[in-house]
Amino acid sequence: MEHPENDQQYAGLAVNKGIQQPPSVNPYMKARRRRRTLSAAEYVEGILRGDITILSQAVTLVESHNPDHEAIAQEVIEKCLPYSGKSIRVGITGVPGAGKSTSIDVFGLHVLKQGGKLAVLAIDPSSERSKGSILGDKTRMEKLSVHPNAFIRPSPSAGSLGGVARKTRETIVLCEAAGFDKIFVETVGVGQSETAVHSMVDFFLLIQLAGTGDELQGIKRGIMEMADGIVINKADGDNVDRANLAATQFRNALHLFPLPPSGWAPKVLTYSGYYEIGIAEVWQMIYDYFDFVKGNGYFQEKRRQQELYWMYETIDEKLKDSFYQNPTIEEMLAAKRRLVLDSRQSSFIAAHEVLDRYFALLQNR
Ligand code: GDP
Repeated sequence: MEHPENDQQYAGLAVNKGIQQPPSVNPYMKARRRRRTLSAAEYVEGILRGDITILSQAVTLVESHNPDHEAIAQEVIEKCLPYSGKSIRVGITGVPGAGKSTSIDVFGLHVLKQGGKLAVLAIDPSSERSKGSILGDKTRMEKLSVHPNAFIRPSPSAGSLGGVARKTRETIVLCEAAGFDKIFVETVGVGQSETAVHSMVDFFLLIQLAGTGDELQGIKRGIMEMADGIVINKADGDNVDRANLAATQFRNALHLFPLPPSGWAPKVLTYSGYYEIGIAEVWQMIYDYFDFVKGNGYFQEKRRQQELYWMYETIDEKLKDSFYQNPTIEEMLAAKRRLVLDSRQSSFIAAHEVLDRYFALLQNR
């Protein structure tokens, strides 16, 4: 007998058969399978339908470093390409605190008043999701983030600038295929990322601040040359005069630059994102630019040139990855580093030996 306590002689005492110890893992969990990965065709179908959930998932795929994901992402992008391109792409830059998020919130609502859909993307190679200013973050754009026709996506997480920027550019393709006809790309105006943004937008807006008296200092000439419009933010309250003065200084400085290839002389305006003063004027300038460059053919020409730029960028990025991520090369480079640091081999010879090895590896594949 399994439980002797149940014998007649112990009448009044009954021991029931125990229950089995439950498994430590909930068996019902098995029924809840992981979300099925969609096929490339399913992603494309969802995107073309304007399904935001599927669009977000596809963007996550674009941002992934997993080679399987990358392969599907590339297929999705290629299938979406014929449906892309029908948008206005505006790059917005300015140092932290210039008022980018406040302005994008207001600019976004302004352009959406005329209908259509807006995607706000970002390039911030310095940011990781856990720290720093995460550009394009929803919490920084309170009104837009609850707008049904706005899609806000923070910067792909830190990586090489080329890689981060390429992912943002690929995301533009997906957003356009999903029917977004207005794209904002935000970046911090402090580094190389402006060049990357410039090579994926039609209009490049530089947000500046007035008040220090030496506005022109500290602005890289290259950034000013890229700008199609410079806007002085926070032209409100006591700051209006200073903003106007800064605008004059910028206009004078711009006169010294040759006319850009677009034929469009960059304009300088003042506005207040916070108090919503001068927003319509800023956008009138941007719409005037689009009329101008669509009229003289520069709009299409620039987009063609951008395609070329990204072809070379992608080649550069892939070549570097293939080289630096090759285990033999990694090992050899570590050894060469020591030799070069100790002045036991010249950098030139070390580089050539590593490269020769790499090319030999390629040939023997
Ligand atoms: P970002 O770092 O460039 O995104 O700048 P934010 O949009 O976060 O703005 C930085 C600070 O400037 C915030 O405290 C804003 O409230 C303030 N700010 C932004 N736009 C204006 C403006 O037009 N006028 C004034 N007075 N303050 C502004």
